Amino acid sequence: MEKLYSYVGPRNLLSLSIPADLLRVVSVASLLCWLQKKTSASEPCTATYIVSRDRELKIAERQTEHVACTQGGPVLAAGEMTLQWFKNQVQVLGLSNLSTRFCPEPACLQVGLTLLENLKLDLTGCTVYAFDFRLCPECQTINVVKNQEFYCSVCDAALPLHWNFEHPQ
Ligand SMILES: [Zn+2]
Repeated sequence: MEKLYSYVGPRNLLSLSIPADLLRVVSVASLLCWLQKKTSASEPCTATYIVSRDRELKIAERQTEHVACTQGGPVLAAGEMTLQWFKNQVQVLGLSNLSTRFCPEPACLQVGLTLLENLKLDLTGCTVYAFDFRLCPECQTINVVKNQEFYCSVCDAALPLHWNFEHPQ
């Protein structure tokens, strides 16, 4: 089941302006054009992506805050995407849910994969990277769980086994 994930990062980032290179990905042609400005042929390019509540896939350069791409709104998915172009083709090399500002669950990756499939992009070489986020109940630090060790990286408190970020929708 799909969920909407609200922004859980610091408030000061909510005032970021819309990234200059933000692209709403509507076709392979639009993506190809965007990529050709970023990298040479056959050179992998990692970008930030979000899927908005109305299923729009948007990308911007990697350093961009996800929340700048949504203007504070929630996401169906967020993370990073590695792309590569050659001639008129775009290949997806990697997709993750790595966003420590929205902390979406691994299940959100399917939303991104479906949109990419619908665009008829080449996903045969795509590696999917799933990250698990937890909020420390003691010190409120956002943790990325590594090696299934459910302990806070800051205060060592036990982390819940289940995803524990609030989302109003
Ligand atoms: Zn902690």
